Amino acid sequence: MTSNLAKSLAQHAQDTFTEADTVLIGLQERMEIDGASPQHLARMTSLLKRHVQALPQLEGLFVYDDKGGWLATSFATIPSNINNADRAYFKQHLSSTDLNVHISHAVRSRSTNNWIIPVSRRFNKPDGSFGGVVLATIRMSYFQEFYDSFQLGEEGAIFLALSDGSIIARRPFKDEYMNKSLQQGSIFSNYLPNSPTGIAVVRALVDNVERMYGYRQLEQYPLVIGAALSKKTILSHWTDETRRAVAMVALMLLGMTMFGLLLLRQIQHGMQAEADLVDAKRGLEKLAMYDGLTGLANRRYLDTLLPAELGRALRYSHPVGLIMIDIDYFKAYNDLFGHPGGDDCLQKVAKAIQKSLNRPSDVAIRYGGEEISVLLPGSDLDGSVLVAERIRVNVRELKLVHPGNPTGYVTVSCGVHAYVPDRGDECSGKKLIMNADQALYRAKRDGRNQVQANREPSHHG
Ligand code: GH3
Ligand code: MG
Ligand code: MG
Repeated sequence: MTSNLAKSLAQHAQDTFTEADTVLIGLQERMEIDGASPQHLARMTSLLKRHVQALPQLEGLFVYDDKGGWLATSFATIPSNINNADRAYFKQHLSSTDLNVHISHAVRSRSTNNWIIPVSRRFNKPDGSFGGVVLATIRMSYFQEFYDSFQLGEEGAIFLALSDGSIIARRPFKDEYMNKSLQQGSIFSNYLPNSPTGIAVVRALVDNVERMYGYRQLEQYPLVIGAALSKKTILSHWTDETRRAVAMVALMLLGMTMFGLLLLRQIQHGMQAEADLVDAKRGLEKLAMYDGLTGLANRRYLDTLLPAELGRALRYSHPVGLIMIDIDYFKAYNDLFGHPGGDDCLQKVAKAIQKSLNRPSDVAIRYGGEEISVLLPGSDLDGSVLVAERIRVNVRELKLVHPGNPTGYVTVSCGVHAYVPDRGDECSGKKLIMNADQALYRAKRDGRNQVQANREPSHHG
């Protein structure tokens, strides 16, 4: 990253100087061809002004004669009594016939007092002798502002130096850094002699902060650029990365845990749903097998139960008893108290019947309308008659007023039958029901509110 930064900064510096030098090449040629006549110098002055306006890095453009006197400048006026023969670049060009560009140490401008970097070229008289110097001054702040625009962390640094190690721009900037020499620093003494570009971890001469520099020697100019993040910044970046990685792993773990919990819940949910389904099915079965009004089992239940009970009775040679119960004058009851009143009565009668059953295997069934049957596995006829009698009494004892009944209360009639199933019998229970029904018919016929038993063997009926 720092080496990429150094590369970009090197390009920027290169462009900045090339633009300035291109102007100087033009000025150098004009001075050599056109000379220094007042006419030409006037045209030169306006040209210098236009160039300075066009290039933001330029603070000023100047033309000096062979004695260091000002011939032309981009500034409004030529200051009187100022001579630049003492400047390093002037001495350099005076003493050397080299016509190439020269970049000098940063100086404070005589025009503005700003830090400037002089870039200059010599021009010759027609006879080849020293004619003077064309000078472009580059604002140090142009680099400074550019370097400040990078986010390098607290201790990040950028320097631009001449090949001899003199600083001509630096971020962070301090006046005392200007022209300080980096010659003794590792970059100039160890790294640059081996490679014009690279990465160097060095403790900076100017502020003693250890940094990792990307450095680069410019190709066209005697300049070196260095860009660095402090070790602390790099490490904190690394630490941030690590923290982020740890957070990521933690997040993933959390995610996996949540996913696992979710899955577990889903499975539990599924199991619960299955259990619920079983419950619902049981509920449905219950609905299908039970009567909503009385809470007793219904006819369908009897149809499934009866063959099973008869089969068992057959295997163990046990008797099975059945009582058929029918409420007396119930049509009249409905007429007197309305259908809801009849339902109410029916519920109470059902409860009285249920209460009359002692064995767990005894089952009361709403056979239809106001007819209720009771299945008594293991009960013979006498036992069944006893239960029937108990039912009759218990219903009567409810003392449900019934003006349509000669007794004045709600009563029931019961028909009873019981038998021990034989091998020849079909186990549908049809005979059992028919025989009990016959007994019930007799109970009705003989005056109601009574129990009648059918003593005929069922398989003869
Ligand atoms: P008996 O049995 O003594 O011969 O006379 P009954 O009036 O009870 O005659 P039956 O048993 O033939 O009539 C049954 C009546 O019971 C018919 C109907 O009005 C009534 N009933 C049947 N099921 C219900 C019911 O679920 N609710 C009510 N409220 N009434 C019912
Ligand atoms: Mg009836
Ligand atoms: Mg009836």
